[in-house]
Amino acid sequence: MNPYQLLPPVHEVLVSPEAQELIDIWQVPGKLFKDWVQEEVDYERELIAEKKTSDDSLTRPQLTSQILKRLTRRCRDFSPYNLRHVVNATGTVLHTNLGRARLSERAAAQVVKSATHYSNLEYDLESGRRGSRHSIIQDMLAKASGTEAAMVVNNNAAAVYFILRAFAQGAEVIVSRGELVEIGGSFRVSTIMEESGAKLIEVGTTNKTHPSDYEEALSDKTAMIMKVHTSNFKTVGFTEEVPAKELKRIVSSSASEDAPIVYEDLGSGSLYPFKNEGIGDEPLVKQALKDGADLISFSGDKLLGGPQAGVIAGRKALIDKLKKHPLARVLRVDKMTLAALEATLFDYVYPENELNDNPTVRDILKSREQIRETVQHTFNELQGSLHSVSLSVEEETSKVGGGTMPLEELPTCGIALTKEGMSANACERFFRKGDIPVICRVSEDRLFMDFRTLDKEDLLVVKNKILALDNVNGEG
Ligand SMILES: *Cc1c(COP(=O)(O)O)cnc(C)c1O
Repeated sequence: MNPYQLLPPVHEVLVSPEAQELIDIWQVPGKLFKDWVQEEVDYERELIAEKKTSDDSLTRPQLTSQILKRLTRRCRDFSPYNLRHVVNATGTVLHTNLGRARLSERAAAQVVKSATHYSNLEYDLESGRRGSRHSIIQDMLAKASGTEAAMVVNNNAAAVYFILRAFAQGAEVIVSRGELVEIGGSFRVSTIMEESGAKLIEVGTTNKTHPSDYEEALSDKTAMIMKVHTSNFKTVGFTEEVPAKELKRIVSSSASEDAPIVYEDLGSGSLYPFKNEGIGDEPLVKQALKDGADLISFSGDKLLGGPQAGVIAGRKALIDKLKKHPLARVLRVDKMTLAALEATLFDYVYPENELNDNPTVRDILKSREQIRETVQHTFNELQGSLHSVSLSVEEETSKVGGGTMPLEELPTCGIALTKEGMSANACERFFRKGDIPVICRVSEDRLFMDFRTLDKEDLLVVKNKILALDNVNGEG
């Protein structure tokens, strides 16, 4: 018989009770499901054309059932969106590839509210007239950073560009060679500087820069001395840098009327004193301003634990100039960002719970003992019901991530997993599949799940993944 007659018509597969049940359970849009059926039938047709369907005894119901099996798999992996919720079991708190900081519940609720309702975004409720979106965030930022004035742009890279462009276009900016960093591959201080039209004057060497280096480079063309926090690397050993306080002294002794601006790109800009807990030595935003910087900038979604944003703070006259600059409109943030940032800052200004509401701060501060409790609990729950998967409770270290505190090793605890007949890399791939992917580390040919970055909800996903892995046979 003609083997093509084995192929079920698309319609026949679609109306089968099995297909209807799949659509029902997985909530796949009907049109998309139909496309899948078409693709699967086409695939079977190709197999026949290539004579790979050689089994003469194959019947149409059998072929249909093969197609349905593959449709089931597609449904299981189906997600309507490309941007998806994943579980971060790497332990890296500010994982740049996984979206950096997560918002607190309070901040997330504010985002939803601002997005689904009208707001006073640019409306002054006192006067009933037009207001400014800058004033929305001004108070909370000023309180949190202890500054005269502040504003927000899209991210810290934008803040750096904006400040250079507004205050140093066509003029000179002095930067230490030890601070000409590249962050995340796409942000280079020297490139941003060139793009802004400011002229970079490099001083000092990679490991040492002295006050006299700045003094010698200072001229009437100098618009700014810029300090860049070398977030993602550390020069150790024979090193010297010049603190903002000293830079301020150097510029104020310059003869010109318009003393050059001292600007410090803090990178992470911590509002929480992690250093007091023995974690890293990130400069505090408040301290940087006290030390004499005229302007500072930092990210919203690094150590602050808020939305993607670039916060600029400092002297009011300078901030006012920025607010009036045409680029302010180009780089402005959305109402959802403002809502998230204000709520994030609120928890710093009025902490109720020692900031345990902020997921970034909370995750960085978690002790190994705290983490171990959850690990042990999960381990005990699973241990008895596994056949081909073996688990062990292990101590490891996690990273802060996001290019911050690169040398910091946070003591952590997690579960190492191996499966009979399957490599760690294959297990890692298996964990990445499915409705909610779980992203893990592989070390010493074992899958490692760091529990530092797992929430209660995540635990359920992880447990189900482990049980599902236990049930598949080999290869994966
Ligand atoms: C991360 C970082 C930036 C870029 O900040 P984004 O918010 O990612 O744009 C700029 N400068 C320093 C020193 C940084 O660490």
